[in-house]
Amino acid sequence: MTTIDIPEGSPFGTANLPYGVFSAGGDASRVGVRVGDSVLDLARALGDDVFAAPTLNPFMAQGYDRWVEVRARITSLVAGEVPDDAVHAVDGVTLHLPFEVADYVDFYASEHHASNVGRLFRPDAEPLLPNWKHLPVGYHGRAGTILVSGTDIVRPSGQRKGDPAPVFGPSTRLDIEAELGFVIGTGTPLNTPIAPDDFARHVFGAVLLNDWSARDIQAWEYVPLGPNLGKSFATSVSAWVVPILALEAARIPLPGQDPEPLPYLRESRPWGLDVELVVEWNGEEVSRPPYREMYWSPAQMLAHLTINGASSRTGDLYGSGTISGPEKHQRGAFLELSWGGQEPLTVKGEERSFLLDGDEVVITGTAPGADGSRIGFGEVRGRILPAG
Ligand code: MN
Repeated sequence: MTTIDIPEGSPFGTANLPYGVFSAGGDASRVGVRVGDSVLDLARALGDDVFAAPTLNPFMAQGYDRWVEVRARITSLVAGEVPDDAVHAVDGVTLHLPFEVADYVDFYASEHHASNVGRLFRPDAEPLLPNWKHLPVGYHGRAGTILVSGTDIVRPSGQRKGDPAPVFGPSTRLDIEAELGFVIGTGTPLNTPIAPDDFARHVFGAVLLNDWSARDIQAWEYVPLGPNLGKSFATSVSAWVVPILALEAARIPLPGQDPEPLPYLRESRPWGLDVELVVEWNGEEVSRPPYREMYWSPAQMLAHLTINGASSRTGDLYGSGTISGPEKHQRGAFLELSWGGQEPLTVKGEERSFLLDGDEVVITGTAPGADGSRIGFGEVRGRILPAG
């Protein structure tokens, strides 16, 4: 038996306990929990085969009461001794996509981001379209191209506007969107909407999400049906799923909604979240997007997803949309940071507006934990490879 050492100030203390899927020493992929700089093998530590699965889905499908029970068991386990063969150094394991993605939807819930993009894409019109403050606007993305952090991103090719004819070739305006993603643990059958107040009973956890975006492809294709190939080539998520149970301490009011939303979108206590992201481009910090500034809460997004009678499933993922705050250094996309390429940034001494081949982006995030610590989301990392 052994004890797990948690370094002072670790973002992976007992207030966090995020879940992931790992493999080590040639063994099959299985569920683990991050504790300090260690990964606890839950199938071994708890003697429960639901954690021997290569995804979190079977455990998530067991539902809210089990999530609470298992979290309590892990908390007491890591306070004492655990079997030697259940503990791995995080540096010695391979991390995998932690859940099998069912459906994927991406929202557009930051007023600052939506206003900035409106000004850039439609300079002669009102920045926000008339529906924006009445519903969380979103589109259906591609579930099959959700990738775990660390996966290289091949520059997509596609059509962009040309004069007089469209041009085909590698994207010249490849961008990021710094977001949070929310993972549904237990869904609902057809015709069973989920009220905002039931958010925490259905959503298992949150991840960092990078919605890679080819702005030139997107700008040419998106009217009238929304983004498609400009985003469907890749979306990256962090390897650790932070339980909503750990994010209770980060729960805060929303910045304010005017007009008041329709009844199906009203929360008795809002699910604003005080999560702060950091975006690094080639190792240099370029932005600190604040999730607390988001207009729509993730509980309202879930209510909107299901109000038309659509069913939901274990493993459904929905993104918040780019997180941008009111200040320039709080913008979560390079499109906004460089103002459409008109105001390039200096990154490690080089001028940048959009991503060049070989560039690497790392997004990290932290939030207040229940014990006064900062809990961490780990990172979502990706490097750009030349077009194939
Ligand atoms: Mn997005």
